[in-house]
Amino acid sequence: MAKDYYKILGLDRNATDEEIKSAFRKLALKYHPDRNPGNKEAEEKFKEINEAYQVLSDPQKKAQYDQFGTTDFNGQGGFGGFDFSNFGGFGGFSDIFDDLGDIFGGMFGQRRERTGPKRGADLEYNLELTFEEAVFGVKKDIEIYRNEDCDVCHGTGAKPGTSPKTCDKCHGTGQVKVQKNTPFGSFVSVTTCDKCHGEGKVIDTPCTNCGGKGRVRKKKIISINIPAGVDNGNTIPLRGQGEPGIRGGMPGDLYINIRVKPHPKFERRGTDIFCEVPVSFIKAILGGEIKIPTLDGDVQHILSEGTQPGEIIKLKGKGVPKLRGAGRGDLYAKIKVEIPKNINSKQRELLKKLAEEFGEDIDKKKTFADKVKDMFS
Ligand SMILES: [Zn+2]
Ligand SMILES: [Zn+2]
Repeated sequence: MAKDYYKILGLDRNATDEEIKSAFRKLALKYHPDRNPGNKEAEEKFKEINEAYQVLSDPQKKAQYDQFGTTDFNGQGGFGGFDFSNFGGFGGFSDIFDDLGDIFGGMFGQRRERTGPKRGADLEYNLELTFEEAVFGVKKDIEIYRNEDCDVCHGTGAKPGTSPKTCDKCHGTGQVKVQKNTPFGSFVSVTTCDKCHGEGKVIDTPCTNCGGKGRVRKKKIISINIPAGVDNGNTIPLRGQGEPGIRGGMPGDLYINIRVKPHPKFERRGTDIFCEVPVSFIKAILGGEIKIPTLDGDVQHILSEGTQPGEIIKLKGKGVPKLRGAGRGDLYAKIKVEIPKNINSKQRELLKKLAEEFGEDIDKKKTFADKVKDMFS
């Protein structure tokens, strides 16, 4: 059966040259034998990807393939099998692999620079904030640990007064040649020197402060201005605050993961805040002044006569400041009508009179309390 080279590269038929190249690079990286040692399936897949790319990257072969949609030209159309023992067949590949840097390190026999600058690692920090801190923003000093250059050896790893020596195994190149067997046949590949780990240098007399690593774990205090309006689950990136780069590389970033503690009174949904306001049943009926709690302090509010349980009062602009753009969300206060659990006899009498006034059909003589009394007498 003819193979669908576009499908193999995860593309559709009108993919551009650039898309073909980019898809190939992505897949080749994923299934490269160096990254999948001993994985037959990856090896097969890699072979297939290469085959597809060989055809689709060659204008003549591609035109032929596009027209006939098949590789059944073997032996007649000049597609031929892919002779992987012949390195010449790789011709067009090397320029692509060039950009892939040290992932493919020296697969084609070229020596690659492994001792260049390397970006520092990214770090993460989980920061817990109170509800108010998240709403209004806060300045926080956090403590992190970073691997930084050792002060004693200034990052060389060698004891002061000594210096690292050129690695005798790789003669300072950081790489050694190894015979490799791959689906393309057997060839010499270059890998990182295991003696110097690619550094090209070895340390005979290690620095005692860092044990020869050149780096030590240091505590750092970093001040962060948390902007008003951050929410649970937000991440604040601090560029360049991760671990320092190696050999002059860029430093990594520090990611602050925000966790917000719940509030006993308030609940937050985006930039709006929700809360409940307890109101006596008398005030709900008669209306009157109540206090609504907000994050900026209590707000006076005049409750209208006959306020119903569950009624919502909206306080505009009393919510959370918007992280992007101006203004604040709103606060929604839900009225919770409270019914007294215990009343004295005078109150009971008054309520009975009130019940009468309302024409409420209750046993005038025997309220619930009277009946309970009867039960135990
Ligand atoms: Zn040191
Ligand atoms: Zn070495």
